[in-house]
Amino acid sequence: MSPSKPNDSKPRSGRELKRFFAKRVIDQVRHLMELWRLANEESWSYQRLLELKQTNEKLIRYANRFEEHSHAELAEQIDQLLDHKGLRSGSLSSEKLEKLSEYLQLLSQAALRRSDLKQNEMSQLITPKKPIYILLNDRDVALKLTRQLQFFGFRAVTFQTQSEFLNNMQKRHPTIIVANVHFGGHLSGLSLIGSIQQEDPIPVIFYSPDLDDLETRLTAARYGGLHFHSKQFEMSLVIEEIEAITNLIPPEPYRVLVVEDSKSQSYCIENMLNTAGIITKAVNNPLLLLEHLESFQPEIILMDMYMPGCDGTELAKVIRQEQKYVRLPIVFLSSEEDLNIQLNAMSEGGDDFLTKPIKPAHLRTTIRAKAQRTRALVSLMIRDSLTGLLNHTSILSALEQEIVKARKNGTSMCFVMVDIDHFKNINDSYGHPVGDKVIKSLSLFLKQRLRKSDATGRYGGEEFAVVMNNTELDDCVRIFEDIRVRFSQFTHTTENTEFNATFSCGIALLNNNNTDTLTIEADEALYEAKRNGRNQICVHTNKKDPTAPKAVTKH
Ligand code: GH3
Ligand code: MG
Ligand code: MG
Ligand code: MG
Repeated sequence: MSPSKPNDSKPRSGRELKRFFAKRVIDQVRHLMELWRLANEESWSYQRLLELKQTNEKLIRYANRFEEHSHAELAEQIDQLLDHKGLRSGSLSSEKLEKLSEYLQLLSQAALRRSDLKQNEMSQLITPKKPIYILLNDRDVALKLTRQLQFFGFRAVTFQTQSEFLNNMQKRHPTIIVANVHFGGHLSGLSLIGSIQQEDPIPVIFYSPDLDDLETRLTAARYGGLHFHSKQFEMSLVIEEIEAITNLIPPEPYRVLVVEDSKSQSYCIENMLNTAGIITKAVNNPLLLLEHLESFQPEIILMDMYMPGCDGTELAKVIRQEQKYVRLPIVFLSSEEDLNIQLNAMSEGGDDFLTKPIKPAHLRTTIRAKAQRTRALVSLMIRDSLTGLLNHTSILSALEQEIVKARKNGTSMCFVMVDIDHFKNINDSYGHPVGDKVIKSLSLFLKQRLRKSDATGRYGGEEFAVVMNNTELDDCVRIFEDIRVRFSQFTHTTENTEFNATFSCGIALLNNNNTDTLTIEADEALYEAKRNGRNQICVHTNKKDPTAPKAVTKH
């Protein structure tokens, strides 16, 4: 264990001074994100909104003083949304909620990427203040995890004995604990965690090398276990989970379409959901449902049973006829108390039935739980099983969405294609399973070096694609050059030999191009990199401009 350097030690050089100021602003952004996350976990109140506003005001002051103009501008926009009328009602309209969420997303991204600081300096800045505690029996794995986490800017502390851990717990609580259920003896890790969890449990990632029964899993969940890994300790997955738990980027608010003929009732329902940070849209004329579905893209439909013109079960049937809405949860909310009618509604495609009048807390909890599960299921569908990255279709739809966002926000965006060099030779020389490991290791490099908000996908066999939103071309090249060099230095091991692998990379910048042309341009640049000798990056340039350099980096 090495003691950490105090965060606010006096800066000396110009560079240090810059980092010192940047840290102030980023800490304030982090504080704001934490408040926003907390606000969305429960219901809002005047107090919560006021705290959010005051924290944001402080951010504006810091950002202006330290000349972080983009942060200051975004914080100003947020300030305008948090007006006094909204504060007093303890709620924001869906329109404002949507904007607020968007600005907060942009702000967190701006905080994560600054062009005048190097990437590794950046990751030091966004380090969560509290450490991560690691309780694993295999010391090598624990140290390797610590090193990998450092690479992300996390500070992890490994423990070898229970008493060492307990001593530290008295001094300082961690953000997360990674624990073997058998730390210190058979199932001792599990009971140890049980003994330290209090009212506000610390999130735990459990690892169980052998036991995978329901009882162990239940106990783990009861003791604050958010994730449970059995048999294999998949380090990249654990890192991803840690990242998700400590992520600075706030989750997007849930979106609920409220289908209800009575305006006063829909207003009341919307208000109940808005005060929990859920974005809503009311449809009072059920015949317009399909149009609203298309434009609003809800994650849940909350549906009244009896409406003029048609009833809720009929509407559910129509929705289910559309392939793309087969999985969209439909929750009925009605004063109907006849169980047979309720059951019938469920068999017609409904997912749940709530009866009016409903308590706000009941409605919010049901909606949140459903939306959360739906998101988890969607994530399974859109990800590639070998690497956990987005699959081919999803990375292309992410590209489409990001293009729309970048145009709307006037931000710069790059599309990157990566292809492992001479991969066929690797398969031929070492076998397909080793080839798979190389693919996985590159996906880990990409996950490690890119932001959560950079949509990263497995485009095909040994090809990857990345959408770098909010990123200038120079920064994009610098980041991928860094990944290229590191990956080429990384040694892959098999049972009896070692080897290195490289990749080539093509980058295209969003101009007037659309999804199709942008992918073609990145692909052309990739082809150019291959032709020039591989293990290098090429940027697509406009052919009409003969002075523009083609190959950015040559190996
Ligand atoms: P280049 O440098 O030009 O990219 O050459 P290459 O050998 O990498 O390219 P090529 O497209 O000829 O070969 C790609 C190989 O990747 C062919 C295919 O068998 C293999 N492959 C595709 N998907 C997988 C996979 O999931 N696992 C493994 N191990 N191999 C795969
Ligand atoms: Mg009605
Ligand atoms: Mg290849
Ligand atoms: Mg290929």
